[in-house]
Amino acid sequence: MVRYLIQICLSMLLLSGCANAQTVRSTVQSSSPTATEIREPATILISIDGFRPDYLDRGVTPNLKALAKSGAYGPMRPAFPTKTFPNHWTLVTGKRPDNHGIVGNTMVDSERPDEVFRMSTKDPFWWDQADPIWITAEEQGVRSATMFWPGSEVEFDGKRPNDWWPFSQELSNDRRISAVIDWMRRPAGIRPKLITLYFDTVDMAGHRAGPANGDKLNEAIREVDDRIGDLMRELTALAQPANIIITSDHGMTETSVERIIYLDKILPRDKYRVVEDGSYAGIEPLEANKEIVRNAFITPHENMECWERSNIPKHFQYGKNPRVPSIFCLPETGWVIYQDVPEWMTGIGGGHGYDHRHPDMMAFFLANGPRIKPVGEQPVFDSVNIYSMLAFLIGVTPNESEGSLDPFKSFLAP
Ligand SMILES: [Zn+2]
Repeated sequence: MVRYLIQICLSMLLLSGCANAQTVRSTVQSSSPTATEIREPATILISIDGFRPDYLDRGVTPNLKALAKSGAYGPMRPAFPTKTFPNHWTLVTGKRPDNHGIVGNTMVDSERPDEVFRMSTKDPFWWDQADPIWITAEEQGVRSATMFWPGSEVEFDGKRPNDWWPFSQELSNDRRISAVIDWMRRPAGIRPKLITLYFDTVDMAGHRAGPANGDKLNEAIREVDDRIGDLMRELTALAQPANIIITSDHGMTETSVERIIYLDKILPRDKYRVVEDGSYAGIEPLEANKEIVRNAFITPHENMECWERSNIPKHFQYGKNPRVPSIFCLPETGWVIYQDVPEWMTGIGGGHGYDHRHPDMMAFFLANGPRIKPVGEQPVFDSVNIYSMLAFLIGVTPNESEGSLDPFKSFLAP
């Protein structure tokens, strides 16, 4: 293992030049008191929000490429809808949105008629339909730490990760990495064995100019790749083995002001409430207008299909949870649905939330570490299985889930 880490380290140094060699030397010196300790492997779950599998082939990800080559990687099918919160929650609970309860980035629930769930909501009421892996870990005596993840600030029956940070988009990727490394520098007794780490820069760049626009998006991808390179070097310097699981929550497709469906053209806005719009629309008819709203939406539309919650096509595995909007409208991939078009939508942009089987919506998967055999590219699998892998790697009994270890059998070492 140590030899393997040194090899990775050397290849990283070659890729990144001499400045980093300095960093590694100084880190080795500062951590020398623990250098002789044989460390147990940590499991580090990383999300690069909005990272599409083909981003690996843009020539800007030397560190990810090196990890892919000596690990396992490939496309991963997200859950529907291909939104950030539903999918991050699927990754860490092993359940699809219907079963974990985070059915959108914005939601309503008839049990709390005066509230709206938003991405900043930390009230456990909204999160209590499934336990994330860090709670499974804590309950079984495995120490966990979260350097951001949707839901990581929520308390579950009084339990939280041992270490967690309140989300701040302003906290630089550099600082996120150094927080993880600081945890790894701790003495064995208080060092986390499961860590999550989250990067949002690639998703933001993808939204701004679309997935095809080279420079800005490539810059964001390169930046995250650099930080992952830093992380690997620092781990090597600490002689800290780690199973690194890199995932994304969804892909990205091009949107345009030329492809907008206006809800006001279908029915006046005083008849219903829009819970969420954009890459899909969630509609709640006002009580007195149920029939009118139903008739207006549940009828053929150009570039869009609408269903009642109970009739959403089976392959989406979405609609059992009462939080799924009463009427759900899905446009053709690349079209958007709006009541009020946001100001930032001026030309070409990027979006997600669409059919999870569409190639542009595919998420990314990469695993590398002492428990991962170097098998290279793997066939696509469902992201709902990641929870099982995490439980396996940290040695805990998983909660009942919709996933299994089956997709990983060819490369997970016992
Ligand atoms: Zn996302």
